[in-house]
Order: sequence, then structure tokens, then C-alpha cells
Amino acid sequence: NRVVYFVKRPEGMISESCFEIREEAFPTPEEEQVIVKSLYASVDPYMRGRMSLGKSYTDPFPLNTPMQGAMIGEVVDGGDTDLKAGDRVSGVWPWAEQARIARAKLKKLDPSVPPTAALHVLGMPGLTAYIGLTKFGQPKPGQHLAVSAAAGAVGSLVGQIGKILGLHPVGIAGSDEKCQSLLKLGFEGAVNYRHAEFPEELKKALPNGVDIYFDNVGGPVTDAVMALLNPHARIAICGQIATYNGDPASWPKRPLFADLLVSRARAEAFIVGEHQADFPAALTQLHNWYRQGRLRVEESISDGFDQLIPALVGLFHGANRGKAIVKTN
Ligand code: NDP
Repeated sequence: NRVVYFVKRPEGMISESCFEIREEAFPTPEEEQVIVKSLYASVDPYMRGRMSLGKSYTDPFPLNTPMQGAMIGEVVDGGDTDLKAGDRVSGVWPWAEQARIARAKLKKLDPSVPPTAALHVLGMPGLTAYIGLTKFGQPKPGQHLAVSAAAGAVGSLVGQIGKILGLHPVGIAGSDEKCQSLLKLGFEGAVNYRHAEFPEELKKALPNGVDIYFDNVGGPVTDAVMALLNPHARIAICGQIATYNGDPASWPKRPLFADLLVSRARAEAFIVGEHQADFPAALTQLHNWYRQGRLRVEESISDGFDQLIPALVGLFHGANRGKAIVKTN
């Protein structure tokens, strides 16, 4: 049974040398445990945060332990639980080809929905987009929405949800190809932050300014958006991926508090896991829109258990479009 171990804390940019794939004997299941074959694994930017020891909202990953994250699996042996071989389940478990997990930690998936939807539109990214935009963005129809890392899992959903709610979404992403894909998803504008004239291009794409900024990135991208805030704008601080690898070149250059003052704007950060009370209503809404075909998520699927490590590292180089997923079996 192959298992991915976290073996070294990164200094600066995350690299493949922080991980090792080890071959291990499969442990015998205890009572109320289920043996699951891992089918798909989610790789997520927050994992970089948990690899460091700095101040955080969650505990760091201990060294020399298996990596873990959101997974989709197929039950091999349900033991004495209600699950049967062949059932599809989701949960958080180690990056291993097979795992044994307590029944209480597994959610049986609805067979009428593609299983990977539980890793994006009906999972953590969908909840983040919905709760972040509705609760922290306080959207009102007709307002102008800017979204960074817009071609990623969370960002692409924020723009689409914004559109449904009557906003005018403009996305910011790292390639012209990603920008094209955003227009196809219904974004009304898309700007490539790697262009030398990015701040000017962003201003042109947002002639009426920004009422809501959904920030996934921070750094120079956010600098450019802060210059365009309208009075009483809201900033939902969701992620700061430009800073996760500790590169000072990615720190903001503008006086951000002064920007807030001038616009009488409100910026608030949130961690979706602290808003569990909002999950049921959010999931019902996401489910409905998804079934109606109003929310689409592109999937960047890397094929093979040995792709887990490169796919995680790739997030920090913009390798994914839509949700980054690894097909592990
Ligand atoms: P994505 O699918 O958006 O993947 C990450 C993307 O970030 C990359 O594809 C890349 O796209 C972009 N990126 C990487 N490095 C940089 C950089 N230095 N500057 C600008 N863009 C960069 O990931 P998710 O949708 O899963 O997550 C998006 C953000 O939301 C992350 O910051 C994450 O930490 C945060 N998050 C926060 C949650 C919360 O509860 N607050 C929950 C879930 C996610 P490009 O090619 O455009 O550069």
C-alpha cells in the first residue's frame, strides 16, 4: 500500500523534496472501520500553510506522518457497518492507495452526482465561494465584483454565483487561456495579471470600480484592485496564496488601510470551516444550481498516485484550471 509522507518543512517555495512515497503493509481494521480504496484526492493551497510552523488558524502537519486531505473512495469492505463494497464515499483520510477509516468519518455519496463534485461545487470550494460571497461580500444586484485566482476552484465558482445573484463579475488569472475560459463561464471581463500593463487593463475592465473584491491571492494583484474600490466596498479575504511561500516580492506595496479609509470599505477574512451552521443551506442552494446546469467547474485531473506531489506543488505555479484533483486508483 503506497502512502505519501510529509518529511521536510519547505523553506520558501514548496518542492517535491518535502514528500516521500513509502510502501507499507496494510493495517488490520478495527471494529466499526471501513476499508476504502482511494479513487480521487483533492490537492489544496491550505496544505502549504500546514507545512510551516508559523502562526496559523490550524495545527501544522507533523513531520514524518502521512499527508491527508479531502478524498473520494470506493468501499472495499464495509465490515460491520451499513456500507457495502462498491459504495462511493467522501471524507478526509491519508494520501494512501487504501485506508481504513471510522464509519462516522465517511459520507456516502449520492450515486446520481459525479463523485468528484464532492471535491469542488458540493465540497469545500463550493461552500467557500458561496459563504464567502454571500456573507462577507454582501452582494446587491448590479454591483461590480472582482475575483482573484478566478480560474481556480473557489474563484471560478465565485464569479458564477455572483452572476446568478445579479453582479457583474470580472476575473483575474495568470494566463490568457485561463482568461478565455472565464468568459465562457459567464464572467463579464477577465484580466491576466502577468501582463506588464495589468493595473491599467484591470481599470479598463472595471470602468465602474469595484463594490466587492473576493480575494484569493493578496500581493500585487490585490494592490491593483485596492486602487479601484468604490465607496463602502466589501473585501472578502478568502486566501493570500501569493504569500504562502514566503516571498517578500509578493507582499503588498500599497497602504491598504489607507485605501480602506478613503473608500470607507470593509475587509474581513473568513475560514469556511468556522461557518458550519451555514453549510446545510449553502449545500442546498449549490446542489440546485448545479443540477440546473448553472454552475460548472473545470477539473484538472492528474492521473496516478505518483501525481499527488507534483499536483500539489503545481497549485503554486498555476498549473491547474478549475479544481486540481488527482486520480489515485
Ligand atoms: P485554486 O484552484 O485557485 O489554485 C490556486 C491558484 O492560485 C493557481 O492555479 C494560480 O492560478 C493561483 N496562484 C498561485 N500562486 C499565485 C501567486 N503567487 N499570485 C497569484 N496567483 C497565484 O485554489 P483554490 O480555489 O482551492 O483556493 C483559492 C484560494 O482560496 C487560496 O488562496 C486558498 O488558500 C483559499 N481558500 C480559502 C478558504 C477559506 O476558508 N478561507 C477555503 C478554500 C480555499 P493563476 O494561474 O491564476 O496564477
